[in-house]
Amino acid sequence: MNSPLIPITIASIYKSKAGEPVPLPAHMAKCTPDTHAAITYLTNALSKKGGKLIISDMFRSREMQAKAYNDYISGNKKGFSPRPGGSFHEAGRAFDLDLSAIEIPLSELWRIAARVGLYPIIKEPNPNLSEAWHFECRGSHQLVYNYYSRRDSIINFSPYMAATASAIVSVGVLVDAFKDCQAEAAIQSCLIRLGMDIENIDGVLGGKTHDALKELGIHFDRSRKIDLLTEIQDLVTLKFPRESNVP
Ligand SMILES: [Zn+2]
Repeated sequence: MNSPLIPITIASIYKSKAGEPVPLPAHMAKCTPDTHAAITYLTNALSKKGGKLIISDMFRSREMQAKAYNDYISGNKKGFSPRPGGSFHEAGRAFDLDLSAIEIPLSELWRIAARVGLYPIIKEPNPNLSEAWHFECRGSHQLVYNYYSRRDSIINFSPYMAATASAIVSVGVLVDAFKDCQAEAAIQSCLIRLGMDIENIDGVLGGKTHDALKELGIHFDRSRKIDLLTEIQDLVTLKFPRESNVP
């Protein structure tokens, strides 16, 4: 994996049975290395201003995302949750924070967060809006978003869904849309982030993918797709070292 998920120790909204605050539980406390670095920066920046970064949610497995989606659909959960495959939470690239603990205006938090590539998903810094608490570190998967935004034909995903699917498959979490072609889709995600045109990320290694690999000097051989993935992930790591540098 060129973006491994690594553990993070961080304050959470959760409490022990005795009522003491506890760190974010381990099954949620996982993120990519660049997200880890950005969160560390944000924690320190907030602390200097007398505020705290307190987290309510971070990594979600496919099953956890499915539960969040079902809770949203049934009305048990207020905030929007997309289907599995559609959230940066599943890629360890998103977190939800406690806005009451930051002690600075949301607009100021946006400015600080942007310095380290953390962005909100709402349009204005209004703390009363749903999802005002959600931030994401898209990293190189923003390039997939841009790639899909530019295209006008044969689009299987929206730009946002393409970027989330790319980020999720890159950390080895299952994306249903790619069925039993997860490694192939991960290869295609790498190719787009390396600037290649392969049409859709769809898990089908066709002529365009073949040409792109050849252009990068990688020998295409269907029988060794895992080696192929490792080779191409090495190129992605060279281009985006912060995404794989484990602190
Ligand atoms: Zn969120």
